Amino acid sequence: MAPTVLARGLSDRGIPRYAARMHCPRCGATTELAANGWCRSCEGAYDTWSRQHAADILWQTGSGASVAMIIGLGGLVLGASPVIAIAGVLAGASTFIGLRFWGLRRRRRQYLATSVPRAYLPPSPRS
Ligand SMILES: [Zn+2]
Repeated sequence: MAPTVLARGLSDRGIPRYAARMHCPRCGATTELAANGWCRSCEGAYDTWSRQHAADILWQTGSGASVAMIIGLGGLVLGASPVIAIAGVLAGASTFIGLRFWGLRRRRRQYLATSVPRAYLPPSPRS
């Protein structure tokens, strides 16, 4: 039975919240868990799978740079205060960071929903 996680970040046994998840969310393995809670083999498989989406960073950085240029450079061209330009650069960086983390979480959810855990794969012909 999984320990109940309380609101303070501690489980009912007093262990920190990050240790409350003791099994891999993809295959249910309980050994060799990485820091994010996935087992090493699923993490490696996700790492290999995620490389086909490596170009995600292009539109994420492009979006952040666009926001920075529109607010920062556009504001200066229209005669706004340099403070607005600084705020535009910070808004662009925040846009990039937000899109990056959102995209990484989305890809991990997509991988969980569409991939088959190794326990359900047919045995390889060599074994
Ligand atoms: Zn796993």
